[in-house]
Amino acid sequence: NGITKEEVLQQVAENDVKFIRTQFTDTLGIIKSWAIPAEDLEGAFKDGVMFDGSSIEGFARIEESDMMLMPDPSTFRILPWRPKEGSVARIIGDVKKPDGTPFEGDPRYVLKQAMDDAAKMGYTMNVGPELEFFLFKLDAEGNPTTHLTDHGGYFDFAPLDKAQDVRRDIDFALEVMGFKLEASHHEVAPSQHEINFRFGDMLSTADKVITFKYVAKSIAYHKGYYISFMPKPLFGVNGSGMHTNQSLMMNGKNAFYDSDAPNGLSQTSMYYIGGMLKYIREFAAVTNSTVNSYKRLVPGYEAPIYVTWSASNRSSLIRIPATRGIGTRVELRCPDPACNPYLAFALMLRAGLDGIKNKIEPPEATNVNIFKLSEEERAKRGIQSLPGSLKEALDLMRGSKFTKEALGEHVFNGFLKAKNAEWDSYKSQVHQWELDNYLSIL
Ligand code: GLU
Ligand code: MG
Ligand code: MG
Repeated sequence: NGITKEEVLQQVAENDVKFIRTQFTDTLGIIKSWAIPAEDLEGAFKDGVMFDGSSIEGFARIEESDMMLMPDPSTFRILPWRPKEGSVARIIGDVKKPDGTPFEGDPRYVLKQAMDDAAKMGYTMNVGPELEFFLFKLDAEGNPTTHLTDHGGYFDFAPLDKAQDVRRDIDFALEVMGFKLEASHHEVAPSQHEINFRFGDMLSTADKVITFKYVAKSIAYHKGYYISFMPKPLFGVNGSGMHTNQSLMMNGKNAFYDSDAPNGLSQTSMYYIGGMLKYIREFAAVTNSTVNSYKRLVPGYEAPIYVTWSASNRSSLIRIPATRGIGTRVELRCPDPACNPYLAFALMLRAGLDGIKNKIEPPEATNVNIFKLSEEERAKRGIQSLPGSLKEALDLMRGSKFTKEALGEHVFNGFLKAKNAEWDSYKSQVHQWELDNYLSIL
């Protein structure tokens, strides 16, 4: 929505908005937010709001810590779960240096750069992410647990289910926040759900991913529940993914579609897939950014493991849903909802564009269930695997010229530093599995 500063200020006055939560995300995709009084908003549109960037993950050093947030009027939304009188709104902003130039460490900036590059080639990109999540109970102290709220399965409908009420309330809140919902349903695992919203341009959709998590968590918490976007919170059942549908537009037409091509898939779409498959192992640390992410990418739970594509089967990393014409799209299935959507989208787009620029043909489509192939058969077909751990993903990323250029040096280094520290902390812990398997027999 192209809402202007003037319209925002008018909405603030008409709706008795008292506070504005200004927001941006750090390198890891975590929301940073502070409230300013509504009367300061007009000044903020003009001069930005200053903040100290030195304690933000992956941002600045102490000696260059002054930062400025420039609010983006198109992201203004009144929060529907806050009181109607003296209401609260949020606005997302771009991070700038004190002189007003863009800050290279801002994930929104990284994405905008990628979008500009696509525009130079004549392309705009639409993305449609599918976020899955678990709805758990809170304990008596109000802390999150992994206690289930239902025992339902895929598309189950339970008219008297309290958990379904929570999902409905989230649906309503999302609509008030400007989402156009397409589907809301129970997922395969108990207590697991998925809500789909309409695709859009990459920047507003990345903003929506951040907003989605914030809205879903807030509504659930108000109802006495907890929502987690952790990729694999429970052993033995499906994890939560964020499949990302992508379609590339040129002059109002879908560049992935060609009615004369086999399967309706254009040469451009083939190169795009070729680029993504070439680089995915090098940027999986961003799409699958936690230690826990790699516990989802294991056989048996509808999550991808092998670097393959297919127009038909869901065991592939890239699937081409059946729709053709304007709706032709490729679905990348490895990302999970813990990722930083700005960085993840920027990398997907740049990988695809690189494929187009360099005419990278994808390997042959894999139209068999890859999980049924033996290791030798996979090797014979040249089928690679996604990284098996955050450590492996980080090592692949560190050696990747592509990822470094796509993220820019600042974000690339900040991300690796934070994530290597996360891995080091994890690897020195003694986990329950080790005690269960070693303690008594060794
Ligand atoms: N939950 C599955 C995953 O981890 C995906 C299920 C689906 O196809 O929607 O990716
Ligand atoms: Mg799903
Ligand atoms: Mg999907």
